[in-house]
Amino acid sequence: MDNAMIESEAVQSTIAQESTQYVTILGATGTIGTQTLDVISQHPERFKVFALTASSNVKGLFELCRQYKPRYAVMLQTSAAAELGQQFKAAGIGTIVLHGDDALTEVAAHPQVDIVMAAIVGAAGLHPAMAAARAGKRILLANKETLVMAGNLFMQAVEEGGATLLPIDSEHNAIFQVMPRQRSKALADMGIKRVLLTASGGPFRTASLQELSAVTRTQALNHPNWVMGPKITIDSATMMNKGLEVIEAHWLFNAAADQIDVVVHPQSVIHSMVEYSDGSVLAQLGNPDMRTPIAYGLGYPDRLVSGVSSLDLLKIGRLDFCAPDPVRFPCLRLAYEALNTGGTAPAILNAANEIAVEAFLAERIGFMDIPSLIESVLSISQIEEVISIEQLVSVDTGARRAAKRWLEKQG
Ligand code: NAD
Ligand code: MG
Repeated sequence: MDNAMIESEAVQSTIAQESTQYVTILGATGTIGTQTLDVISQHPERFKVFALTASSNVKGLFELCRQYKPRYAVMLQTSAAAELGQQFKAAGIGTIVLHGDDALTEVAAHPQVDIVMAAIVGAAGLHPAMAAARAGKRILLANKETLVMAGNLFMQAVEEGGATLLPIDSEHNAIFQVMPRQRSKALADMGIKRVLLTASGGPFRTASLQELSAVTRTQALNHPNWVMGPKITIDSATMMNKGLEVIEAHWLFNAAADQIDVVVHPQSVIHSMVEYSDGSVLAQLGNPDMRTPIAYGLGYPDRLVSGVSSLDLLKIGRLDFCAPDPVRFPCLRLAYEALNTGGTAPAILNAANEIAVEAFLAERIGFMDIPSLIESVLSISQIEEVISIEQLVSVDTGARRAAKRWLEKQG
């Protein structure tokens, strides 16, 4: 090999190293986490896994670490971390095991990390997402609960930290894709009239009120179009997911409640739309596969291969639309109300919903008890102006306590 060749190879390897981006995946063992790793594995030169985190799934995290060899693995639970550490030792895996909330924050804000996929489910995702924002990372935000709880503080942290925020929720990712690249603060300044969030309508789209009161956990976990974790699957069945997404859209796009409309679209092919003042409606279409928004977030502004199959419109044949029914799906109404009330109302809505979903999954309450519980907690809670994360954490705790009292009263 001549010198010039060696030199050019050395230069190329420097370029490869410089363009390699280090990724932390919060909630790596979940459905979004594993799909993110699937996309990353298709671009080994471009992305390296820095840290993977999970709550308590030792087996799942061990397998992922064996495959992706991250520098750090974080388990929320101490005992799970100890077990994982022993398994690494026995298998000769060099990944360092950390545990607890602080470790989640650490791997989200580590100076060597370029990209953070925020894919923890629920309010537990708030602290590490905030840390990534303050540290100026590229944040791929799947954890919508962060924006529902703390939208103003999170958006402020993104701005002050110089972070790049890319929405992963398929609807918000679609809206992001069809908005002008050159962003203005106000929608009207970009010629935008409103955003239209599409909703599949979930497994009970056509069920009667009477049928809804009797639905089982198994039926509710059977989503027609998307494969997702249990919490968001139940949220989709109650349409609270769409409600949380309305609040998410409010913060991401600076859209007022009356500029966000929901349209039920059972095929989940149009992922959402933006209506411009000239009457143009721009939509993003694709198969219902989260690897599309994930690849968009990882590669932005480049387009990456994601492994998603081509959209076969001829096979799909038709696209249907109808209005959401606020009577059968009160959770959507409750979310709009919380957004209009503002302050800590969305954080209370979110906390009460998490407890209600947990209770439904544990078969303690019926499906239609979910909105009843949330509405009751909201009605007895005092709504305050949001001033700090500490305040929101205490509001979240208070709302969970109120929700548990409601459950105890039900017996
Ligand atoms: P999931 O239940 O499949 O996975 C959740 C992950 O978070 C797991 O890795 C789990 O170990 C971890 N986790 C759970 N509780 C934790 C805690 N207290 N502390 C730290 N880690 C914890 O969930 P998912 O379906 O992947 O969803 C993740 C997030 O992405 C949710 O906020 C959801 O709303 C959002 N999202 C998901 C989809 C989807 O298609 N799955 C689509 C849009 C948005
Ligand atoms: Mg969504």
